[in-house]
Amino acid sequence: MGHDDDNPIARATDVLLRARYVIALTGAGLSVESGIPPFRGPGGLWTKYGEPPMNGYERFLADPKQAWAERLEPRGPMRELWNALAQARPNPGHVALADLETLGVLKALITQNVDDLHRQAGSRRLLEIHGNATLIRCLQCVARFPRDEIATDELPPRCPRCSGLLKGDTVSFGEPIPPDVLLRCQHEAERADCVIVAGTSASVYPAAHFPIAVRERGGMLVEVNPHPSDITGLCEISLRAESGVALPQLVERVRARLARH
Ligand SMILES: [Zn+2]
Repeated sequence: MGHDDDNPIARATDVLLRARYVIALTGAGLSVESGIPPFRGPGGLWTKYGEPPMNGYERFLADPKQAWAERLEPRGPMRELWNALAQARPNPGHVALADLETLGVLKALITQNVDDLHRQAGSRRLLEIHGNATLIRCLQCVARFPRDEIATDELPPRCPRCSGLLKGDTVSFGEPIPPDVLLRCQHEAERADCVIVAGTSASVYPAAHFPIAVRERGGMLVEVNPHPSDITGLCEISLRAESGVALPQLVERVRARLARH
């Protein structure tokens, strides 16, 4: 059988099918392809409105009532972001990653995105390291609740289970990553010998640490990004295309190869 060594999609397929335990790390690039504005760069929310305060978590704890009032009546960049989140739908890149999980190839998906689109696309083994904008989290017992299950007539709302302080699940500036999700991410990264790094420059810690740790142990990285990034030099293969283009092609090839065996 012919071997198309020059075709990066074919080479990436080989890497995925030879790996024992494949995980993925995704970031803002996937969200942007679904119409959610980025924070930085051209068209970015902070480019337009200015950088937000870098101590969001501290401010929340100092005055949770006020923080909740602002959340319920968002203005400026937050209003634009919430509107975009409400309208966004999964794109073919999200669907391809859910398909790769169904095929049994992808074992876990770590995302830095808070937009819920991986869930909507059907990903199950999903670790939302920066939280999920549709959820509310208890700062005390770390339980999470759908936004519409929490009454907000009295602010700040309290946890139905432990009466701890409730906050949006999205991780704020200065807020520690919730311990349950961080532990699961570390566990998955320890098992992985291959990481698909899609739509992220892998420059924000702690998420950036996971592919680097896998690479340092001799694992392989497959990058999907239209632009070179900080992690490109560590990647076995770089697919220079949008996730919504490259990932469906990759998954089709994986599917065809699995069907042949
Ligand atoms: Zn609680």
